[in-house]
Parts: sequence; C-alpha cells; structure tokens
Amino acid sequence: MQGIYSHIFYPSTLNELLNLKNKNPDAVVWSGGTGLMGKQKRKIPVIPDNIIQISKISELKKIRRTERYLEIGAGASINKILNVGQHVLPNALAQAMKLIKPSTIRNMATLGGHLCMPDKRLNLFSVMILMDVSLELKRAGGARWIQLTRFFNKNGKIQLKNNEILTRIRIPFGNWNWELFKSDGNPFFDTGQAISFCILAEIQKGIINDYRMVIGNSGKHTVRNIEMESLLIGKKLPLSLKESSFIVEKYKEWIKSQTMELTPFQRDRTIRFIYWILKELLP
Ligand SMILES: Cc1cc2nc3c(=O)[nH]c(=O)nc-3n(C[C@H](O)[C@H](O)[C@H](O)COP(=O)(O)OP(=O)(O)OC[C@H]3O[C@@H](n4cnc5c(N)ncnc54)[C@H](O)[C@@H]3O)c2cc1C
Repeated sequence: MQGIYSHIFYPSTLNELLNLKNKNPDAVVWSGGTGLMGKQKRKIPVIPDNIIQISKISELKKIRRTERYLEIGAGASINKILNVGQHVLPNALAQAMKLIKPSTIRNMATLGGHLCMPDKRLNLFSVMILMDVSLELKRAGGARWIQLTRFFNKNGKIQLKNNEILTRIRIPFGNWNWELFKSDGNPFFDTGQAISFCILAEIQKGIINDYRMVIGNSGKHTVRNIEMESLLIGKKLPLSLKESSFIVEKYKEWIKSQTMELTPFQRDRTIRFIYWILKELLP
C-alpha cells in the first residue's frame, strides 16, 4: 500500500538500522531518494508507507583504502566518492561518475542506491561488473559478502533479503593501464535508447594481457561476451588489418544476434563503437 502519509524512521547508527529493518522488513530503504523519486510525475508524489531514511548513518559513508582495494560505504554520495577517492578510483569508474548529470544529483545519489536500483542496471553498475567488485550485505546479527556479478539473478531480480542492507562496496585494484567509459543517453530515463561501453585492458610491451568489455543497455542485465574478449587477449599491437577485420566481423555477427538484449538502435551504436575502438584506439 502506498499513500500520502508515511511512517519515516531515521536511524542514526547501523545497528539501529539493522534492527529496524528486521522488525519492518517491508519498509523501503531511502538513501539519496533520487532513484525512488526521480521519475515521479504527479503533483503529490506517491511515497511508500514505511520508509527507513539512512542518510544520518555516518558508518555508511566511510571510504577506506587498503593496499589491495578501495572500500566505499553504501551511503557515500557520488560527489563525495569523487572528491575523496578520485586519485585512487579506477579511471573508468571516475569517468562514469562524472557523467551522472546534472551534477547536483551526484550530491544526493549514493553508490548503494545506484547498485540497488531494482529495475535497471545503471552506468556505475556496468563499469563495476568488470572489476570483480564484492558487496557486504548486513542484517541484524549477521553479514555476508556477495560478488556484484551475483547480486541480480538471471531474471534480473535483486538478491537482497528483505531484512538485509547493502553496507559496503569493495573494489579491488586491478592492473588496468587502459580504461575507457563512453555513454550515450541517460540510462535512468531513456530505456532502449541509452547505451554505455566500458573497456578495461592491461597492455604491456604492446601485448594485450587482459581485455574486458561490457555494454550497459539500461535494462535488467548488462551484456558481456568473454569469448569475444578472448579474441583480443594475447594479441600484439598494432593489430594487423587481417586481425582487426576478423575481430570486427566476429563482433558484428555476435552483436547482430543480441536481439533480446539490445534494441536495433543499441546494436547499431555498438557496431560503430567496435569499429571506432579497433580503428582509432588499437591501431
Ligand atoms: C535527474 C537524474 C539524473 C540521473 N542521471 C543519471 C545518469 O546520467 N547516469 C546514471 O547512471 N544514473 C543516473 N541517474 C540515476 C541515479 O544514479 C540513481 O537514481 C542514484 O544513484 C540512486 O541512488 P540513491 O541514493 O538516490 O538511491 P535511492 O533512490 O535512495 O534508492 C534506490 C533503490 O535502492 C534501495 N537502496 C538504497 N540504498 C540501499 C542500501 N544501502 N541497501 C539496500 N537497499 C538500498 C532503495 O530502497 C531503492 O530501491 C539519474 C537520476 C536522476 C534523478
């Protein structure tokens, strides 16, 4: 049931939040509220009956760096992450964060809220799916870690129990020395039109040691093909014309078959992107 009047809980500690969620499993967690409210068009917005507002909880906003990873509290806003962590953030992630516009939204929108959007995988999700990111999910009296790749099942349903909260996001440092993020359209508003591409690669002495690419289609899944990636791994740069034409043809074949995952517009954009990458960037 949703109405005009809501009960809003304001926990100020993580323990309080977990106990509240345990007692009120149907209460909606409200972080920045941009995902929950951003598309409402009515004069009087429809808001959930029970809300747990988590913005007062400082434990959820911490950002910490170790030798091996960067750990970000689920309640940290995108701008806070950019300000605190830009020099340690993987470049592609920083690029994707800066492209969340308008910039005022980045003051409110949190990384946790971004990853927990139930209906679509947004831009930061796509980038982080390539980075072996793991998530800490807490409930009263317990916690578990889950890989971001398993956070949504094959039907696109979030794997968060109704007494659980996403608390920390752990991003391991990779050996990427070639990172790229490009997007066209806004995945939050333009389903079927918006598209994003992220590539992470490790290139040493002209050899591609690792290459990963994901396509964000603004739907419930991201699109990735490890077999296609392997066509580039081990290759010496610059690619020969023969190699590059072979790879483009393989990609075209695969992209044309993605009729469920990508709209005709997105397939067209993807093919152009592949041409651009192979011709301009990996000459
Ligand atoms: C005007 C506008 C422009 C935007 N532009 C872009 C863009 O260019 N690119 C892009 O990728 N995205 C864009 N977005 C989407 C934006 O990134 C998300 O709305 C935002 O990241 C969600 O974060 P939030 O803190 O506001 O989440 P909320 O709205 O508070 O929550 C979103 C969902 O996550 C759940 N949730 C939140 N935190 C937790 C937690 N810790 N544990 C468990 N569940 C939780 C909530 O219950 C809800 O279901 C835009 C949004 C707006 C409104």
